[in-house]
Amino acid sequence: MIPYGRQNITEDDIEAVVQVLRSDFITQGPVVPRFEAAIATHTGAAHCIAVSSATSALHIALRSLDVGPGDIVWTSPITFVASANAALYCGASVDFVDICADTFNMDMTLLAEKLDRAQAEGRLPKVVVPVHMTGRSCDMKALDALRKTYGFRVVEDASHAIGARYAGQPVGSCAFSDLCVFSFHPVKIVTTGEGGAVTTNDRVLSRRMAALRSHGITRDPSEMLQNDGGWYYEQQDLGFNYRLTEMQAALGLSQMKRLNAFVARRRELAGRYEQLLQNSRFLLPRLDCDENQPAWHLYVVRLPEGSKPLERRSLFEKLRLDGIGVNVHYIPVTRQPYYRGLGFEPSQYPVSESYYERAISLPVFYDMADDQQDIVIKSLITAVYR
Ligand SMILES: *Cc1c(COP(=O)(O)O)cnc(C)c1O
Repeated sequence: MIPYGRQNITEDDIEAVVQVLRSDFITQGPVVPRFEAAIATHTGAAHCIAVSSATSALHIALRSLDVGPGDIVWTSPITFVASANAALYCGASVDFVDICADTFNMDMTLLAEKLDRAQAEGRLPKVVVPVHMTGRSCDMKALDALRKTYGFRVVEDASHAIGARYAGQPVGSCAFSDLCVFSFHPVKIVTTGEGGAVTTNDRVLSRRMAALRSHGITRDPSEMLQNDGGWYYEQQDLGFNYRLTEMQAALGLSQMKRLNAFVARRRELAGRYEQLLQNSRFLLPRLDCDENQPAWHLYVVRLPEGSKPLERRSLFEKLRLDGIGVNVHYIPVTRQPYYRGLGFEPSQYPVSESYYERAISLPVFYDMADDQQDIVIKSLITAVYR
């Protein structure tokens, strides 16, 4: 099976993890801060907090912004459920803004219209969570202008987008946001097994998240109300155990050295798909431009509009029979039974629905060889006519 995504692990990665295992600290040691520093250096953000997953990163990011009962968080339906669930963990409610048909990212025109209506109804969101679908940045400049008009905060879900660039800066710089979240799950671009991180330029938010990651506890004397002695710590908030281990951080730190190579190969594969599928009936994703350089976590092709509903399913099944690990990203969150139970109707998000019916993710990963890609393309083209 050619998988749709796969981690790349070198002997250096393994050695880095083994070294930690032989050291004094396997959690809460010196490697997590080094991993955080590497992410901060790459993104240019002032602070980075590494945690156990992007899900926990989204949770503490929203909590650091005081999201709670009575608040509303908006995100996109075409994302992994975690982007929306994090708001519900905080006791807030969630709403969705439909996507743009050719970027699969939140449609900023629809967002502007929805904000206008929400203002009239007194139901403005406290936070908007743009998702950089497939590793392509959302239109952050448009979002920033709306943020300034309506006064909401922005948490980027950049789970797909480490290594991507937007407006001349790495995604994660937080030039147009308050906080930016990354995932290090093995299918993502850089992995720690499980893991995530939040970047920010706001020192207060970063201190809050550092406490929330570890039970809401601080050991920094300058932050404590009193100090009984060297053993003393204070729990000042209700936090969690969302810590990353030293082994995970060592793997991540070692992987970060190859981030540029990872993204360069993904970009090459995307360029090859573009070239080899140009005359097929599939709708292909936009390629890079100066302003927006995706990290290519996913390469999603779509059947043309008006394709028969069963066409994508039959294509998926044929490709799987050929040993091609295609997938579908994503089932709109608004389609999930849990979210339907909250009152969401898929018909409210027609662009997401139409995307979902026609999309298929082709394999793209660092170790993918050109001849593996040729096999995928051959199978894809012949499947259409079978
Ligand atoms: C993978 C992913 C997450 C969750 O990441 P974990 O690290 O597995 O918690 C959240 N949002 C998006 C868009 C993702 O792709």
